[in-house]
Amino acid sequence: MSFRAVMLSEKDRQVASSIVDLEDADLPQGDVLVSVDYSTLNYKDGMVLSGIGRLVRNYPHVPGIDFSGVVEASHDTRFKSGDRVVLTGWKVGEVHWGGFAEKARVNADWLVKLPKSLSNLDAMAVGTAGLTSMLAMQALEDHGIKEGPVLVTGAAGGVGSVATHLLASAGYEVAASTGRPETETYLRSLGATSIIQRSELAEQPTGPLASERWGGCIDAVGDVTLAHALTEMQYGSSIAACGLAGGNALNTTVIPFLLRAVNLLGIDSVVAPFDSRVRAWARLDELLDRDTLKSMTTIVSLLDASMMGPQIIQGQVQGRVVVDVKA
Ligand code: NDP
Repeated sequence: MSFRAVMLSEKDRQVASSIVDLEDADLPQGDVLVSVDYSTLNYKDGMVLSGIGRLVRNYPHVPGIDFSGVVEASHDTRFKSGDRVVLTGWKVGEVHWGGFAEKARVNADWLVKLPKSLSNLDAMAVGTAGLTSMLAMQALEDHGIKEGPVLVTGAAGGVGSVATHLLASAGYEVAASTGRPETETYLRSLGATSIIQRSELAEQPTGPLASERWGGCIDAVGDVTLAHALTEMQYGSSIAACGLAGGNALNTTVIPFLLRAVNLLGIDSVVAPFDSRVRAWARLDELLDRDTLKSMTTIVSLLDASMMGPQIIQGQVQGRVVVDVKA
């Protein structure tokens, strides 16, 4: 039986996508064959779909850096037919064919079994962006969140939306920074207690330190936003740096680290250890209000997703975009 997939091809450094029919035998090697239900559109998918950053080296290629689905066949004893699973990271959708297809074949080590109470749709409403938010929140907690609001940057995007909701659900005061003032009602519905205009953080700081404002920070933006946040952190607080939507530069000084004992914590969901993934999925299950999760999610078809690369790269997407692969 054939199945549908988004297929990317490259000519003269231009990437083009089309919907094609594949057979099981076309899929890459792996221990587990998964019938994919949902994938999502992440910033990295936007880069892959637009051919930015040369993340994909071999074409033809199936994008989609995460998916949830049901095991169809397994050569690994940890999984059996019918198990519900989720995959994020491991360069799936970059090096290995990903989730923008009705089936995927992957290594068993890359899969996590879903908690019973988390549906396949919920799992992808969370997706890579949500897992990253949880890993970031856990990193902040491991280092101690200090008094004062936790700053979330790029708050109306995928990572920012889930981070805002998770922090609020865990009882923290959240200051959500956005460049889209029209998202204020949305961000407050996720649990933000204050809204910070992006422009407040968008200037290169004038000095190495400013008044202490933030008890912690989850930063999805990088560049001057991160440099600015560093100058305003409470003594001993931490920034979980997980993204570069505003750029990958960082022009700062050592002063916040020396005089305010600020921790800069790097978050990488791609190769996060298995134990921390299982812990993160269990805590996501516990903290996520399902109605709030639904309110931050837009569901699109495989065809729509294949055309949305430019939109997410330009910061025009609100919350999470789930791809209903079989729609
Ligand atoms: P989105 O595009 O959904 O969100 C990014 C948000 O950043 C936008 O919505 C916008 O928020 C803000 N933004 C966009 N452009 C700019 C700009 N030029 N200056 C300042 N702010 C800007 O992407 P995701 O949330 O999916 O991903 C965010 C970042 O996190 C990306 O860099 C991505 O690669 C990274 N990431 C990292 C992971 C990891 O493991 N470390 C995993 C997943 C993502 P607003 O409109 O509210 O201002």
